[in-house]
Amino acid sequence: MSPAEYDVAIIGGGPAGATAAYELAKSGASVLLLDREGRPKPCGGAVPPRLIEDFAIPSEQIVARVGSARIISPKSQAVEMTIDGHRRRAGTSYVGMVDREHFDRWLRRRAQAAGAHVEQGTFDRVEERTGGGFALNYRDAKGARVSCRSRLVIGADGANSAVRRQMFSPAARPPYVFAYHEIVCSPESGDFDKSRCDVVYDGAISPDFYGWVFPHGPVTSVGVGSAKKGFDLKAATSELRRRSGLGDAEIVRREGAPLPLYPLKRFDNGRGVLLIGDAAGVVAPSSGEGIYYAMCSGELAGHAALEALRTNDVRALKSVRSEFGRMHGRTFFILRMMQYFWYSSDGRRERFVSMCRDPDVQKLTWESYLDKKIVRREPMAHLRVFLKDMSHLMGIAKA
Ligand SMILES: Cc1cc2nc3c(=O)[nH]c(=O)nc-3n(C[C@H](O)[C@H](O)[C@H](O)COP(=O)(O)OP(=O)(O)OC[C@H]3O[C@@H](n4cnc5c(N)ncnc54)[C@H](O)[C@@H]3O)c2cc1C
Repeated sequence: MSPAEYDVAIIGGGPAGATAAYELAKSGASVLLLDREGRPKPCGGAVPPRLIEDFAIPSEQIVARVGSARIISPKSQAVEMTIDGHRRRAGTSYVGMVDREHFDRWLRRRAQAAGAHVEQGTFDRVEERTGGGFALNYRDAKGARVSCRSRLVIGADGANSAVRRQMFSPAARPPYVFAYHEIVCSPESGDFDKSRCDVVYDGAISPDFYGWVFPHGPVTSVGVGSAKKGFDLKAATSELRRRSGLGDAEIVRREGAPLPLYPLKRFDNGRGVLLIGDAAGVVAPSSGEGIYYAMCSGELAGHAALEALRTNDVRALKSVRSEFGRMHGRTFFILRMMQYFWYSSDGRRERFVSMCRDPDVQKLTWESYLDKKIVRREPMAHLRVFLKDMSHLMGIAKA
């Protein structure tokens, strides 16, 4: 029997791959969506309303809605930032929480319902065929070897992408933070607030990133990220649990994964292979937010792959990188600068948290998170934030 042939083979059925598969399948392309399944992605699961609206996520996938974030400094200065009133676009104002096990499965099912061939299996190898297209090998759920062919390949197989390792130069590897979290049972009584996220900026919790407490209803994700070799993420998470009143909470799971922090210079290899999501490094600096950007790159990939199939020209895949940069390059640049300036010492973290008291800073923070836009219409607010930023940085303003 000759191997199955697809227009596009997508490796990895997380938010990036499942979104690309859905876009392609609903336009009539033949798509393989391969995912090994079995182990939910370690993730805090926080998503903005813009994602829920743009990607038509049903409300039952949102397991909790968070109305404020409390930002905590090294000296325990706490600034509560409520979301309400900070949405420009019409719509609801909250941070949604998804359970990745159910959310990712739902996204794959949606792609399947649109016509994608969704297969549980582990990707092994991809090779270019003489005469064009690709030959792929994977093991199915029973461990049997399977071969197939495709005209294009999309690598959506996460931060350690095997597609990237096989089809791109070794230099195409984004820098990482390692993120570790513990899922604990949320306390039913006491001071714990299930409708608020905590974000902790403190060198003892993370020397170069931050720690978080994200409630998901009956369970809560408590975790930290750091790129520093030798930093004890488990000890820091345990300290964060203690400080958050979750020291005695029952631990449901412990897990971690790399979190890429910079998009690659190129997402396609010029020969018909495209990377999206974590595989392409599209996670926001400073915040580590990756689900929205993974889905956004998946949608762009779907459109670009359709164009490449229609014109029989793989150069159409290039547009994913340029379009992503056009949409989010400015936000990523600002977030990268913020991370560089504010996450480098406890003195700066203290000033950063002080700055978060400012209504202009809160407005810009929430608008850029909720709507994924840094609003151009208010140059004076930007100027005010810039001047306050500089005076805090130079130590003119009081921490
Ligand atoms: C601890 C932690 C907390 C986080 N918290 C948040 C948060 O709160 N909000 C947020 O927006 N982002 C968060 N992120 C980032 C977010 O999880 C990622 O950016 C996002 O999951 C990227 O989606 P993706 O589809 O590109 O990759 P992934 O979600 O990693 O999906 C890759 C898929 O590929 C599959 N796969 C991999 N290799 C193979 C193979 N060989 N064969 C078959 N299938 C394969 C996997 O099974 C997986 O389903 C967090 C990350 C970490 C590590």
